[in-house]
Amino acid sequence: MVLSSQTGVTNEWDSPMFREAVKQFEHVAEVMNLDDNIRERLSVPQRSLIVSFPFRRDAYDTVDTVLGYRVQHLLTMGPTKGGIRYAEDVNLGEVAALAMLMTWKCAIVGLPFGGAKGGVCVNPRELSRSETQRLTRRYTMEIIKFIGPDQDIPAPDMGTNEHTMGWIMDTYSTHVGHAEPGVVTGKPPALGGSVARREATGRGLVSLIPPTAHHLGIKVEGSRVAVHGFGNVGQYAALAASEMGAKVIALADITGAIHNDSGFDIEAVREHVRRTGGVADFPDSDVLEPSMIFELDCDFLIPAAIQGVITEENAPRVKARVILEGANGPTTQKADVILREMDVFIVPDVLANAGGVTASYFEWVQDLQNYFWSESEIVGRLREILNRAFSEVLDISISRKVDLRTACLIKGIRRVESAKLARGVYP
Ligand code: GLU
Repeated sequence: MVLSSQTGVTNEWDSPMFREAVKQFEHVAEVMNLDDNIRERLSVPQRSLIVSFPFRRDAYDTVDTVLGYRVQHLLTMGPTKGGIRYAEDVNLGEVAALAMLMTWKCAIVGLPFGGAKGGVCVNPRELSRSETQRLTRRYTMEIIKFIGPDQDIPAPDMGTNEHTMGWIMDTYSTHVGHAEPGVVTGKPPALGGSVARREATGRGLVSLIPPTAHHLGIKVEGSRVAVHGFGNVGQYAALAASEMGAKVIALADITGAIHNDSGFDIEAVREHVRRTGGVADFPDSDVLEPSMIFELDCDFLIPAAIQGVITEENAPRVKARVILEGANGPTTQKADVILREMDVFIVPDVLANAGGVTASYFEWVQDLQNYFWSESEIVGRLREILNRAFSEVLDISISRKVDLRTACLIKGIRRVESAKLARGVYP
């Protein structure tokens, strides 16, 4: 039986998020008249690994068994690339959907990678540092045959950070018998991590504000920005936006949401978060009902936390003129249609947050060459790549009269299609 008769019914990856990712892909495949064989091939990931493994809690007698995943969507373009997330509700379908998104993201900005994603079903906030370290090392061992600098290169995602990447690098290197910094990106600089990687997603995202503003005739200076999520992406996006002269008027994280019409001093909020663990109770701010951040009157709304937060339910009440998707998949497809009709301009995740993986690419290249670039080189090249991709997809969107998300996907999928056609089918 061919795959096309099986997908759409049910499959191993079936989950709401995977269905959304495939639906989105199918829609664009239709618009761009994609080769049917390639369409079938790309609608499922190439490799999926599910592991279960134990790790010892700090209470020595307690051993917890957890599930972990690593999915590689496409092996055609080079090694695969994508983050690892630690979250209680992560599942194979979510990881597969995100791996597919990574394929498009890398292709849109022209990186020589296919997409991958990994995850472990665990609440990272409930783990001590030593528990997280043991869990990470054991997970690395479970997927070790799957990863490597020429094969698949993990990076941080939700619930993981540079420490996690450092432990993966150390476990992998110990196992192969020599230091192998190129096996992960987003590492501490002392291990071959790149300067400016941590900030890259947020800063890259904000570097798209000026061209977007220019296209729509919005003045950046004094424009109002709302940011959902104050982790790695949200923090640096807020910081970069305020450095650019915009006013960050609302911030939300899992502790609550805060609002101040004259704009926050982001460094002061970061200091407050370091001390208290979240944005809630920041002085000089009004308390905002967290869900209201999506309905606030502002110029730029930056969802930078989790997927599926802008839905058909709240989309009709969105007042932002632009949504810059810092998170992966923050807008559901039904919401996307509604927002398009409302003329809300969306800079989609596959472009808006591509700064992270682009800086990861720089880090990997530097590790392979053992030659490290200056911060200004990194920041300059990052801005150049993102801005070029933005203007190319804007051209596609104007010439084909499609929204920016469709234009991005056309560009990414076309690149993958050319590579697949050129390689042919083995044997
Ligand atoms: N997890 C990030 C993303 O979703 C970064 C991936 C990477 O740097 O490989 O784009």
